[in-house]
Amino acid sequence: MTLRFLDGGGTMGAMLRSGDGARSALGAPVGWPIALRSLVGILLSAPQPMFVAWGKDRLMVYNDGYMEILGDHHPAFGKPFAQVWAEVMDQVGPILDRAYGGQPTYMDDIELVLHRYGRPEKTNFSFFYTPVRGEDGEVVGVFCACTETTRKVAAQRSRAQELARLREMFEQSPSFVAVLRGRTHEFELTNTAFLQLTAQRKVIGMAVRDALPELAEQGIFELLDKVYATGQPFKGEAMPIKILRTAGAAPSLRYVDFVYQPLRDPHGSVTGIFVEGVDLTTSHQQARVLRESEEKFRTFAQVVPNHVWTSPPDGRLDWFNDQTLAYTGLSTPELIRAGWRKLVHADDVVPAAAAWSQALATGSNYEVEFRLRRADGVYRWHLARALPIRNADGDIVRWVGTNTDVEDQRADREALLRLNTDLERRVDERTREKERIWRNSPDLMAVLGTDGIFTEVNPAWSRVLGWEVAQVVGKSISQMIHPDDLASAEQALAQASAGVLPTFECRVVHRDASYRSIAWTAAPEGCSVFAFGRDVTAQRAQERALELAEEQLRQSQKMEAIGQLTGGIAHDFNNMLASIYGSIQLMQRRLSAGKVEGLQSLLEKASASSQRAAALTQRLLAFARRQPLDIRRVDLLPLVESLQDMFVRTLGPRTTLKLQFGADLWAARIDAGQVESALLNLVINARDAMPEGGQLTITVDNMEVDAPMAARLVDLSAGDYIALRVTDNGDGMPASVLARAFEPFFTTKPVGQGTGLGLSMIYGFVKQAGGHVGIESEVGKGTTVSLLLPRDLSTDVPVAASARAPTVSVHAGEMILVVEDDDAVRSVIAAVLQDMGYPFMEAVDATSALAVIDSARPIDLLVTDVGLPGMNGRQLAEIAIARRPKLKVLFVTGYAEQAAQRQGFLGDGMQMITKPFAITELASRIRAMLATEKPRAVPSAK
Ligand code: ADP
Ligand code: MG
Repeated sequence: MTLRFLDGGGTMGAMLRSGDGARSALGAPVGWPIALRSLVGILLSAPQPMFVAWGKDRLMVYNDGYMEILGDHHPAFGKPFAQVWAEVMDQVGPILDRAYGGQPTYMDDIELVLHRYGRPEKTNFSFFYTPVRGEDGEVVGVFCACTETTRKVAAQRSRAQELARLREMFEQSPSFVAVLRGRTHEFELTNTAFLQLTAQRKVIGMAVRDALPELAEQGIFELLDKVYATGQPFKGEAMPIKILRTAGAAPSLRYVDFVYQPLRDPHGSVTGIFVEGVDLTTSHQQARVLRESEEKFRTFAQVVPNHVWTSPPDGRLDWFNDQTLAYTGLSTPELIRAGWRKLVHADDVVPAAAAWSQALATGSNYEVEFRLRRADGVYRWHLARALPIRNADGDIVRWVGTNTDVEDQRADREALLRLNTDLERRVDERTREKERIWRNSPDLMAVLGTDGIFTEVNPAWSRVLGWEVAQVVGKSISQMIHPDDLASAEQALAQASAGVLPTFECRVVHRDASYRSIAWTAAPEGCSVFAFGRDVTAQRAQERALELAEEQLRQSQKMEAIGQLTGGIAHDFNNMLASIYGSIQLMQRRLSAGKVEGLQSLLEKASASSQRAAALTQRLLAFARRQPLDIRRVDLLPLVESLQDMFVRTLGPRTTLKLQFGADLWAARIDAGQVESALLNLVINARDAMPEGGQLTITVDNMEVDAPMAARLVDLSAGDYIALRVTDNGDGMPASVLARAFEPFFTTKPVGQGTGLGLSMIYGFVKQAGGHVGIESEVGKGTTVSLLLPRDLSTDVPVAASARAPTVSVHAGEMILVVEDDDAVRSVIAAVLQDMGYPFMEAVDATSALAVIDSARPIDLLVTDVGLPGMNGRQLAEIAIARRPKLKVLFVTGYAEQAAQRQGFLGDGMQMITKPFAITELASRIRAMLATEKPRAVPSAK
């Protein structure tokens, strides 16, 4: 058995080796169990305080390190732990018990009151109790390594106190102070000034990057890292930093002086950084900033194109930028010596100096324009401006001034000024001119709102329309314009508002309630309409007068024509009358002489002349469109066919006649007799145009006239017509003839051959019947004359030419009343009736006729003139039929203005015969009428 495990181990090792140990309760080391021996071996060789408590009595074995902890308790070798450490057993005993129970325990900085040097002493320990097991696994002892931390704890405590002291110390310091700990620069301490600088943020315990994020990218964090890493302090002067000084506001720029001082532990490693600094932004420290800014200012001043200069408060310029030197051609000393007054134009010096003195005296801005001499002697206009620079106390420390070349601007400005005055003058002239026009214009001028209210009118309104200006302004156009013209006026106003320039005419009311025709032009003027109106009343009156004159001229031409006609007719009539009168005288002479032979031929001669005279007057009436027309339903096909023989005879053998009829021809509503004579006239004209013979075609067709065509044909209404066309291939008509062909008495034929009444008569009657006549003609090719005859839409039985002679039967005993104011005509009619054997009565006018009508006398037929004095024949017939519904009426008329057409004139049971009439015609009409029953009892009395 060896005791080598006791080798070394200082005092305790020697003690054990000496055999002192054998006397203890533990016995001689040689008898110790292996576990104890190896533990003691370890602790004797360790520098750290260690002990072993062994066996159930917990006998202590310890090393030299532990001797210090034991103090007066040494030597405690082989003594029970509880005995050695009696003063702390209440604290330590339970921990040791736990270790003996198999549970290791670590205690850190535990505070124990020890009596190791004969007095109570506050100590701190950190220790580790480890259970030691025997071969059977039972806990046989406890191994403990321990450290006394009393000094360390005391040091910590004192540093905390130190910090508190520091905090107190720095709290009221005007500098901002912070202590940062660790690599992340955690805030450990800050003072009031620091809090002020950082918007009172709670930064303690926070890393600087989290606490003051706005400092990122300003180099601050990097500086701190560097100081921490290198241990080198850093000193910043007038460093600009942007920091959040007010919560919620944007970071503000501050200039700060500061130091970063590294903090070290006792071993010299950096553990933190002490920060201390001052905010220079306010306070007298500004001067430094100012100086720096002044440097910046000079740099800036050199780069601008203007002259820049400075002056101390006394006003003597002391610095100029290079541009000033270049312009003046002088050096700074030369400039300072010369003084700026020498450079300013003599005429500008006084006001410039006055302004400068004023600025210096009051501290207000200096601004003046003057001419400044250039190096080459040329003066150019400059605008000089200067501002005072003040210190924190508000005192002026410097003046900074600039001169800006305004020569060109000034020239421009002067030109502009001249232009402006010129313009103003011109505008003024224009305005006056406008005003003059407005005032003196003979024409109406008005400004209207788009609502049609007059907002302004010129004085012409009172001259033209009698209204005072004030009476018109505020009125609406509806109050001023003729109601019939209002719609078009409103439309024109709307157009004018939209920018169109309409011209229109309307009647505007005069104050005397009459109307004046005003021709307007209008144009938009802003939101209003400017209207310009000219009184065209006189012009319109003139035009009307002209129209009247033209009408009169036409009238007079007509009169002339009639004069011609009358002359012609008088001649013809005289011939006829001569023949009639001559024959009658001859007959008288022969009758009174009792001679009868030769009477017959005289009678025939007189009769023929009478007929010719009658035909002539008929034509005249047709031309006057006043012939009484006997308009009825007429089928043209049988009418034309019935005339064919006569046409062929008229045309002669060298001309062929062709008739063409359309299918399902409508009936016309026309005077059949007039159509016959018109056709005959047209055939004769064609024959005259084809002296060598040719081709004549007569066609009859239905024709529908639509509105556009009706409009083209003039004076014709749209509807159904029957077209009757007569076409020849003769000479045709030149335009001059064509234009006048319808004129009465226009003829190209030799005297005696043409009357010029054929076409005019046709025209008159067709027009009167509501139809139309047209000529198409081409010289050398031929002529077509077209008659459009109105279609008959009634269901009457049509009258054909051949059907016009009714069968005649005589009824004796029927009473006839004859009303005629002309004695000769009345006696002729009476003679006819007498010859025919009818009883009759005579009346000279309507009044005496009515007396008979009112009597109880039976009357079957009323034969009456139309043109009676007083009540006319038509009115008489109306009353008579009202009294005697069965009464029939035969009108005998020579002139029928009212009887322009049968339509509406001749009621049922009425007929008409025109004067002069053949006695046979009168007789046959009377017979026919008496033979037929009147169809309806109540006649229409239109
Ligand atoms: P008149 O036959 O008596 O001359 P009208 O009134 O019938 O009178 O005709 C007037 C003129 O129109 C004629 O003189 C002739 O010059 C011209 N005229 C009429 N019909 C035709 C026709 N079919 N061809 C050529 N010219 C015609
Ligand atoms: Mg003719």
